Amino acid sequence: MQGLMIGAPLLISDLIRHADRHHGDAEIVSKRVEVPTKDGSGAIHRYTYREAHARSRRLANALKKLGVGATDRIATLAWNGYRHFEIYYAVAGLGAVIHTINPRLFPDQVGYIANHAEDRIVFVDLSFLPLAEKVAPALKTVQHYVVMTDRAHMPQTSLPNALCFEDLIEGSDDRLVWPEFDEKTASCLCYTSGTTGNPKGVLYSHRSTILHAYAAALPDALNVSARDVVLPVVPMFHVNAWGLPYSCALVGAKLVFPGQHLDGRSLHELFEQEGVTMSAGVPTVWLGLLNYMKEHKLRFSSLKAVVIGGSACPPAMIRSFQDEHGVQVIHAWGMTEMSPLGTVSTLKGKHLGADKEAQYAVQNKQGRVLFGVDMKIVDSDGKELPNDGKAFGDLHVKGPWITTSYFKGEGGDPLRDGWFPTGDVATIDPDGYMQITDRSKDVIKSGGEWISSIDLENIAVAHPDIVEAAVIGIRHPKWDERPIVVAVKKPGAGITREELLKFYEGKIAKWWMPDDVAFVEQLPHTATGKLSKLALRGEFKDYRLPEST
Ligand code: AMP
Repeated sequence: MQGLMIGAPLLISDLIRHADRHHGDAEIVSKRVEVPTKDGSGAIHRYTYREAHARSRRLANALKKLGVGATDRIATLAWNGYRHFEIYYAVAGLGAVIHTINPRLFPDQVGYIANHAEDRIVFVDLSFLPLAEKVAPALKTVQHYVVMTDRAHMPQTSLPNALCFEDLIEGSDDRLVWPEFDEKTASCLCYTSGTTGNPKGVLYSHRSTILHAYAAALPDALNVSARDVVLPVVPMFHVNAWGLPYSCALVGAKLVFPGQHLDGRSLHELFEQEGVTMSAGVPTVWLGLLNYMKEHKLRFSSLKAVVIGGSACPPAMIRSFQDEHGVQVIHAWGMTEMSPLGTVSTLKGKHLGADKEAQYAVQNKQGRVLFGVDMKIVDSDGKELPNDGKAFGDLHVKGPWITTSYFKGEGGDPLRDGWFPTGDVATIDPDGYMQITDRSKDVIKSGGEWISSIDLENIAVAHPDIVEAAVIGIRHPKWDERPIVVAVKKPGAGITREELLKFYEGKIAKWWMPDDVAFVEQLPHTATGKLSKLALRGEFKDYRLPEST
């Protein structure tokens, strides 16, 4: 017997319709990409969900006129801003697929994924025009480029069939009823950065997006509400800014889009001007902001919480936010293949009475699963390992917002017995808190045992003289691999190899002690801002360990 409930499909267009109808006057504020006038005016664009919805409908009508239909892929090369937001809703609302391209990829990779996705239209922010012009001759399926600006700022461009965004909006009306279709219809395509081989496309559906948006908004997840002012630093081209453009519409939160300037000064100014209460981004961004604030002795007046994820949040960063600034850190873990949220490290009731150190120990972990995600750790034979907080193995996940396979079947069937292998190595404790100990390809295998590179990195960055550190395994004739620390010193700091190694004493088992330290000016990063161990291993391929080991 079936339940007697209205079978309304879960569609993305309902999010913006809801935000319009019930939070119509809530603001969406954007730092413009267009250069402001000398007095700074014109730097900010400000409107409401109601206006965003009307412009999304106009854009959808314009896209229809350009021949866009269901399942067509429409790409963006854009920062976080109101026009990008409108494209999210206009494209998905029509039943077409928005393909957010990461502009930090190499131009060849941008060309590869646009061709692979068979994009028909590419929306381009002014700052990415040179990139689009460079790759355009190689793009085989693109019929139009839309420059995301108004007529006054429309540049000369070599892009074929270039259109102006505001002309499209002005030339269409807002009368449109969003079509209804199967909730399993594809809505959005994101390519993983692909440390090996070509990037692979993850194809989300309307259903997966809405379920993820609900779960992400919950108090023990990102905790967003109609009382929040949310500034997603995480780009809309990186797993949909962790779903915030959807979750915020779902709850009616004010949104603040930072545009292209993500340095400490620009972010702090915007946080203060707009009364931001919650923000989300990768550790590198927060490092820049915290350093800037320290240097200028600044405080936050409205910020209550920051979500930190994308790579492990250094414990020192959690302390700095919470102890020095009174801002709650929400440490989260996920991946492109998971829409992206998997776990969030919020305390349970039983931790509230615990001392501060015990609470920090919980927060340092990547956290508990959201309802909708199931996880387990397995050994190399696929046998499930105990959740005792000690055993570590390959982390497998499943759930309705986790991928079953990549776009066009690239890479074959990734699932193992119906579970998606994340490529992360982790422990799970009896309370269900997962802790990543490594990427499976980064874990250091020494004498048949595993050493966590992340643990060793966290200790290095806890030293006051170190800005950033990466630990990689170096070939060793006896032990197979041994760890070395590659670290960036704070400007002017005089720390030596011996001092850093001494700092490890008493914090780790003796056999985890790094064999050497190399100080460098900077570490290589991937297009999504993570440390690129692949590039670093390349740089250190001829490196020899000191004789004594
Ligand atoms: P991406 O698909 O580019 O978002 O990368 C996903 C990967 O980033 C995960 O599989 C993890 O290896 C890493 N990652 C994301 N969040 C965290 C975190 N909080 N701690 C450690 N690693 C993380």
